[in-house]
Amino acid sequence: MENCVFCRIIRGELPSEQVYADANVIAFHDIHPKAPVHVLVVPKEHAAKFSDYPGDESGERKLGSLFAAVNRVARQLGLDGYRIVVNVGEKGGQEVFHVHVHIMGGW
Ligand code: AMP
Ligand code: ZN
Repeated sequence: MENCVFCRIIRGELPSEQVYADANVIAFHDIHPKAPVHVLVVPKEHAAKFSDYPGDESGERKLGSLFAAVNRVARQLGLDGYRIVVNVGEKGGQEVFHVHVHIMGGW
């Protein structure tokens, strides 16, 4: 997706404070943190929103790799308690239309 902000970060066209990457996801600090530690975990494959993932095995694989990465990133950040948030759609408060999971902690 040419103009998607997170696709541009994934392609290295925009800077980010990256904390984690694997074959399927990257994670970087939120530019406007709402917690002492606020990291976004983002699948490398563009999907606009969480609810676009199909309910079949391919959706299960994508969600599995995303949330397994969330677990690894939170552990790597040394967080012993945190919130994970996914805003879904405009009415769910989503502003960037590329799937991402917020990890917030460090209080
Ligand atoms: P959401 O409301 O779930 O779509 O959240 C989007 C989040 O992306 C917000 O918390 C923004 O602060 C964050 N954000 C937007 N642009 C960037 C960027 N270039 N680098 C890091 N975080 C960003
Ligand atoms: Zn994208």
